Amino acid sequence: MIEAAVADGACDGISLGRPTLAEPYYAKKLEMGRPEQIHPCISCQNCMATSSSKGSPTCAVNPLAMKEGMYPVLRALRTKRVAVIGGGIGGMEAARVAALRGHQVDLYERDGVLGGRLIEAGVHSFKKSIRELVEWYRLQIQQMENISVHLNTDLDAAAIRALDAEAVILAVGSEPLMPRSIGGIDSPKAVSATDLLDGKRVAGQKLVIVGGGLVGAEMAYDYCLEGKQVILVEALQDLMANDPNGVPYWVHDLLIELLERNHCDIRTNTRLDEINSKGAVILNADGTRTEIEADDVIVAIGFCKRPSMAQELMGCGKEVYEVAADNAIGSVATQVGAAYEICRTL
Ligand SMILES: Cc1cc2nc3c(=O)[nH]c(=O)nc-3n(C[C@H](O)[C@H](O)[C@H](O)COP(=O)(O)OP(=O)(O)OC[C@H]3O[C@@H](n4cnc5c(N)ncnc54)[C@H](O)[C@@H]3O)c2cc1C
Ligand code: SF4
Repeated sequence: MIEAAVADGACDGISLGRPTLAEPYYAKKLEMGRPEQIHPCISCQNCMATSSSKGSPTCAVNPLAMKEGMYPVLRALRTKRVAVIGGGIGGMEAARVAALRGHQVDLYERDGVLGGRLIEAGVHSFKKSIRELVEWYRLQIQQMENISVHLNTDLDAAAIRALDAEAVILAVGSEPLMPRSIGGIDSPKAVSATDLLDGKRVAGQKLVIVGGGLVGAEMAYDYCLEGKQVILVEALQDLMANDPNGVPYWVHDLLIELLERNHCDIRTNTRLDEINSKGAVILNADGTRTEIEADDVIVAIGFCKRPSMAQELMGCGKEVYEVAADNAIGSVATQVGAAYEICRTL
């Protein structure tokens, strides 16, 4: 787009803003004909939010931004054999930074591909930049000779103890919540948001989405764009009010406007009572119950951390670190930041 605009004479030059926070060598990489090496900006607005809250922007994908002089990745004085457990963005960033510092890295992932929850995060039509970020990480890891990737490899604490590694970085992420306490959670109509995003099932035409956090709201919007009938049920009085990572007000307002414009039926102050063979029974704010016929009742009520193996690894003779978010799922910013911080001094 940039090249076409200059070539067409629409303008003489382009000035880049946020993309250069994510990738300071953006122009240089274009000039070299290596656009695939550009570290993608995911338009997450983290820099905008931190500009106002901290007085200086920080970048979700590039922890070095604005701190280039005092926060560099330097070669380690003594290189080590490092095992990274989990190939989500936390594990991929840990492997990348450890390898840049000269360590010999083995990256273990239980699935057949690298990416973890970020693959689901990039499924929606409007989240192309997240898909680009996953591809960028896969390319960086593939290019580094001192990273060996072991896919389809699920390691428990005993297997980790037996590894020939001096340092272990746990980056095992989270699982979707599907509480047994919800009546009918085993019914054929019930499905988790992540199973749909993973393509394990295809959504029908009439949908009830339970949970109006960012995951549920984005899913509702994409299904509305596809012309599906969507009812979005949220127990609180507003959507995205209790998102663990906090949703900037401009993202919140825009998404609600887009949902309304695309005829999403938003029901706040409303709870799921049960899932049955017809669809969902919801408990309205006035205490009445309504049965809604639906092809699928999609559960998008949050995530829980996968159990930590750190305790079981105590006394194993290896350094053990954990890429952990304050909340269950974290975000690109928290996971990249935590992994970078561990590996910067490893
Ligand atoms: C639908 C959706 C949309 C999202 N949208 C955004 C967004 O727009 N912006 C944003 O910043 N964040 C977003 N997020 C959150 C973001 O995706 C997560 O914060 C991030 O992907 C978590 O990365 P992680 O590496 O910590 O964990 P995970 O991605 O969960 O990775 C952990 C990996 O470890 C592997 N693993 C687990 N146990 C083992 C084991 N014993 N041995 C080997 N491998 C193991 C798992 O298979 C997994 O691949 C979204 C999340 C979802 C689900
Ligand atoms: S914080 Fe997000 S929007 Fe800002 S430059 Fe980094 S990736 Fe882009």
